[in-house]
Amino acid sequence: MNEKQSAHGLSQAQLDSFWMPYTGNRQFKQDPRIIVSAEGNYYTDADGRKIFDGLSGLWTCGAGHSRPEITEAVSKQIKQLDYSPSFQFGHPKAFELAHKITEFMPEGLNRVFFTGSGSESVETALKIARAYWRKKGMASKTRFIGRAKGYHGVNFGGLSVGGISANRTLYGQGIDAIHMPHTMIEENLFSVGMPQKGAYIADELESLIAIHDASNIAAVIVEPLAGSAGVIPPPQGYLKRLREICDKHNILLIFDEVITAFGRMGSKTGAEAFGVIPDLMTTAKQLTNGTVPMGAVIAKQEIYDTFMAEGGPEYMMEIPHGYTYSAHPVACAAALATLNLLQEDKLIERVNSISPHFQKLIHSLKGSQYVSDIRDYGLTGALTIAPAPGEPALRPYQIAMKCWEKGFYVRYGGDTIQLGLPFTTELNEIDNVINAVGDSINELS
Ligand code: PLP
Repeated sequence: MNEKQSAHGLSQAQLDSFWMPYTGNRQFKQDPRIIVSAEGNYYTDADGRKIFDGLSGLWTCGAGHSRPEITEAVSKQIKQLDYSPSFQFGHPKAFELAHKITEFMPEGLNRVFFTGSGSESVETALKIARAYWRKKGMASKTRFIGRAKGYHGVNFGGLSVGGISANRTLYGQGIDAIHMPHTMIEENLFSVGMPQKGAYIADELESLIAIHDASNIAAVIVEPLAGSAGVIPPPQGYLKRLREICDKHNILLIFDEVITAFGRMGSKTGAEAFGVIPDLMTTAKQLTNGTVPMGAVIAKQEIYDTFMAEGGPEYMMEIPHGYTYSAHPVACAAALATLNLLQEDKLIERVNSISPHFQKLIHSLKGSQYVSDIRDYGLTGALTIAPAPGEPALRPYQIAMKCWEKGFYVRYGGDTIQLGLPFTTELNEIDNVINAVGDSINELS
């Protein structure tokens, strides 16, 4: 055992037992990066080092870590009601939370279906969309349209509508889905905030509908701002155009807001930030500030009403769908505390006040070696890193490891470095994390 391994106290057998998700297991287990505690904007690793959390966990912990407002609500709830079913019975916080969530939603989205994660939210939204058309007597509307570079979680529906090939290649046939092109065009390189050009790319949806026919298409699903592919803000006018085309052809529009809902865009949702209202919205992550797994799908009332009207006898369920952990009481307590905290501490306003500084600094990295694009919106930002010959993901990995050594956690994914700062970040912490990224890039050979 070298010194680093002895500090975390884990045996090789223990390390080997955990098949880690989305991780290079072989490299990790040779040189583990073990996080043991968190407070505010920082983690502490097994060596006792303070590490700035440059991705708010996994875009989850915008309010900062270990907020007493949330941890106390969770511990109180777990003592009072540790679990109760949401099938055929209910507990008060589920209803309180559903109503609270509607305060964050754009006009008309007011019916909330609880899930356990972002991936489950996506599957739920896709199933609601297909079932909705059946209830409407249009059972042929089953196909989905996603987008290149889209990320919609890891289950078979989300995988199929997703457009990141590395996530799809291994898994074979999914569900019936086709894809629009992404919006990363040459003219938009180094755009500050929303790119000006590219609304016309939405017209590709018209071409797909012309081939496949609206009578076969249930829904279009996009992230209003694509996160996992490396922060791709929508070009101005693009989402509005998608909305118009969906309306024209009687196709549902789903916004996957697992990253963008509840503050990260400097608005309550991406829909609010970009001024376009979907028919269904998927959420998770920031809903509980990452403390307890939970997701939610929010539907337009007309969708809910359709299920109720076509539900048969009143004692019968209108939708045969739900999870054991839908509206888990502990998750509900965490989410209520989180949403109250976002409002009471004016954290969304805070995102707005600090994001211009973040924007200025992240774009100051233009001109650094290998940096071939920079994108940002709200408190999200990413750099595209030119590939090392034959190894497109190598340099981002090396940059992220150098940042970790300097005391900064940033995400590397594909050919990008991604940042999603806590809403509670101080201006000097923005300076520090951008300096660390810049220095790490400069240190590459
Ligand atoms: N959808 C989007 C837009 C996401 O960013 C993610 C996760 O990053 C998911 C879905 C999947 O969420 P989860 O990992 O909670 O299943």
